[in-house]
Amino acid sequence: MSAINSPGGSSGDSLLETLQRYWGYDSFLPLQREAMDCVLAGHDSVVVLPTGGGKSLCFQAPAMCLPGLAVVVSPLIALMKDQVDGLRNCGVPAAFANSTLSRAERRSLAGDVRAGRLRLLYLAPERLLADGTLEFLKTANVSLVAIDEAHCISSWGHDFRPEYRGLRALKEAFPKAGVHAYTATASEQVRRDIAEQLQLTEPEILVGRFDRPNLIYKVQRRANRLNQIQEVLGRHAGESGIIYCITRKDVDQTTAALQEVGHRALPYHAGLSDEERRRNQEAFIEDQADTIVATVAFGMGIDKSNVRYVIHAGMPKSLEHYQQESGRAGRDGMEAECCLFFSGQDYGVWKRMLEDSEPAAREGAMRSLSAMMDFCNGVQCRHRTIVEYFGQQFDDASCGACDVCLGQLDLVDDPLVTAQKILSCVLRLQQRFGADYTAKVLHGSEEQRIVEQRHHQLSTWGLLSGENLRTIRDWIEQLVSQDFLAKAGDYHVLEVTAAGRRLLRGEATPRLLRPARAGKATKAVAAESWEGVDRGLFDELRRLRHETAAVQNVPAYIVFSDATLRHIARRRPSTLETFRQVSGVGEKKLADYGRAFVERVVAYCSGNGLSMDIAPPDVAPAASLESGPRMAATRAFGYFREGRSVSEVAEQMGRATSTAYGYLADFIRNERVTDPSPWVDGPAADRIAQAARQVGLDRLKPIFECLGGEIGYEQIRIVVLCLQNKS
Ligand code: ADP
Ligand code: ZN
Repeated sequence: MSAINSPGGSSGDSLLETLQRYWGYDSFLPLQREAMDCVLAGHDSVVVLPTGGGKSLCFQAPAMCLPGLAVVVSPLIALMKDQVDGLRNCGVPAAFANSTLSRAERRSLAGDVRAGRLRLLYLAPERLLADGTLEFLKTANVSLVAIDEAHCISSWGHDFRPEYRGLRALKEAFPKAGVHAYTATASEQVRRDIAEQLQLTEPEILVGRFDRPNLIYKVQRRANRLNQIQEVLGRHAGESGIIYCITRKDVDQTTAALQEVGHRALPYHAGLSDEERRRNQEAFIEDQADTIVATVAFGMGIDKSNVRYVIHAGMPKSLEHYQQESGRAGRDGMEAECCLFFSGQDYGVWKRMLEDSEPAAREGAMRSLSAMMDFCNGVQCRHRTIVEYFGQQFDDASCGACDVCLGQLDLVDDPLVTAQKILSCVLRLQQRFGADYTAKVLHGSEEQRIVEQRHHQLSTWGLLSGENLRTIRDWIEQLVSQDFLAKAGDYHVLEVTAAGRRLLRGEATPRLLRPARAGKATKAVAAESWEGVDRGLFDELRRLRHETAAVQNVPAYIVFSDATLRHIARRRPSTLETFRQVSGVGEKKLADYGRAFVERVVAYCSGNGLSMDIAPPDVAPAASLESGPRMAATRAFGYFREGRSVSEVAEQMGRATSTAYGYLADFIRNERVTDPSPWVDGPAADRIAQAARQVGLDRLKPIFECLGGEIGYEQIRIVVLCLQNKS
């Protein structure tokens, strides 16, 4: 254990050194440094960071700097095993104790603790408080106590666990060790309650930013659920994702339908046997299944970092739930897509369920439900809406990562006139009808009911006949969510509000959206995190990661995160020396995996004419969503859109031509360009296409050879990318 830093030294430096040596990271995520300083100083703390904010490292890294044993309380067995596997894979001596251990295993664990061979010990709360565990640990030189998912101690939280209450004994049991609580739950009440329940001494309270800039939020009204789901899956072939449904029946039907068309999807809900649930969860974690279709029963204790999409096939019952469930995407900081398909029916379903709940809880729950519905119908940046809902400020004018800011929702050109038509119709109907009926009248329906009521003779009948019925229906919801209309009584009859009257007088203007137009997506977030990454190499590395994980019997993301694989595919290290500079490669992983990954990089790059050992960008991509690379890519995309040549772009931007070619490749992929003619002259493009027909599109080298080496790799790549976009 000579590798462990001596305590009491200059903490900052030894922390950074530890981070580098074991985890291969060379900087801290926001607030990590402050949180770690608390741990090193033994100053109690409550740390609130969003999912993926790097909470675990806040106590894991200091545990390697302090002498003695860190005790970590964690509620879920699956999560514990995962964390311990991950730590061991980084060379950190860690273990867990829970009910799955045999007597013999427990004895050997106790021996390890006594001999000081462990640095972190994970325990479930009931284990910690059971027969003599605390007494035993008191003799073990405990350096710190960390409590994961600490909101479980608070009955204010959404996930109260009575067994957590016993943790108040910790402070007394280990008077010399700091006690540190970690959670992603935002509410201030819960925060205070945690500190109180644990009897913390003047705790430092650290609260991070709640925004998750790498999540791309998209909300659509549900039309054809399966088609909508498949469209998302189509963008994520071979990647991991979760689909949440409201009912078990929906889970089963959706799974079956997806399996039928060849998706590797598995179900998860409380109606399945424990065994089947466990098996499906494991298959998902180990990347043997791509998609898990689940009720909300799934997710707690899933630490899988490479979830690239979360789909809600129905609307959740609160924004708190939505934030938590969608938050399971993109823990590794790489972009991930969160798509929500909602319908007014979902609102009705939840409302009926709430009506049966006890009155004390009902009011708050109804408020949460309304906020959720407003989010769905909303026309304001989704990131902003969520962040503000949780009481934080959102400063950016545009997030670059939601359907609203990406311009995927079209604003109606003249919303005032459209809204006035709708409101007048509500008035003509004497505020006695619901949204569906009103929409039909505006659309000009000759349904029997309408004719019988003579509403086809109203001046507002058919006023919006040029629009889709569904669109009109959406606009009504949007006007409700902006308070120009209200739904009253048991039948949700539409009424014009005071604000609505002002609108009719032209004194207020609403925002109305048209439904999404396909293909308008430019994913700024995605473009940035893929910048400079060779996708082919990335896929190749993913295969190698999968093989490696299978041999070792651990989940793939424990070998390397998606973020690290992208770094490798960007920098393309040809030696162990350059490999060790990749973020996420610590000493143990270098020793364990370095050779195999470097060999794969070299083989792929020489086979595809790619240069290797690319210098790192000025800013580390992991921590830089607002900074350099995205800006550069955006600028380059602008030039290419103007039709400039590669050498012009390189010169304009002061970058190497090879870098400009990289931007061009990203541009072609992102904008789904199919015509290579701006960059490759016609005859050359034809020859390349012909060669590709003979030898396939998978690898560039065979095409290069087929052309007798007469056309360069850069040109071949451009044409191949265009051909791939076409197919
Ligand atoms: P949380 O528990 O807050 O959801 P995790 O501790 O699981 O977050 O960390 C999320 C991801 O971020 C993990 O893949 C982790 O390895 C990575 N990570 C943590 N700290 C850093 C850092 N300083 N630099 C780069 N990546 C980090
Ligand atoms: Zn936005």
